[in-house]
Amino acid sequence: MRCPKCESEFETFTYENVEVDRCTSCGGIWFDALEKENLMLIQGAERIDIGDKRVGKKYNEMQDINCPKCEVKMLRMADKTQFHIEYEFCPTCLSTFFDAGEFKDLNELTFGERFKKMVDIWLSVR
Ligand SMILES: [Zn+2]
Ligand SMILES: [Zn+2]
Repeated sequence: MRCPKCESEFETFTYENVEVDRCTSCGGIWFDALEKENLMLIQGAERIDIGDKRVGKKYNEMQDINCPKCEVKMLRMADKTQFHIEYEFCPTCLSTFFDAGEFKDLNELTFGERFKKMVDIWLSVR
């Protein structure tokens, strides 16, 4: 499979039993359906996002991306809690693509927010 943005090869590796594909050139990360959800439950999963944030920003501006698996146009989605994070979503195979730096951004903040909520609940029950 090739990167839908820069057409370089993906490298596949496993992080905590979840298979991840990362582009060897632009650092974008490809998740098959539900892989992202599984990974987001793991603290520290943002470590897989080693790409250059500035490169990711550049590729984030690219429009009309086709899914490398099903050749259909991917939809541009914004994260429901963090609107500044935009990623590509395939409506057919439900895969997602994050530019370099985006998954890190998403996971770090999501974890921080979840922790804050836990503390709020803990304080309110005291
Ligand atoms: Zn790429
Ligand atoms: Zn697809």
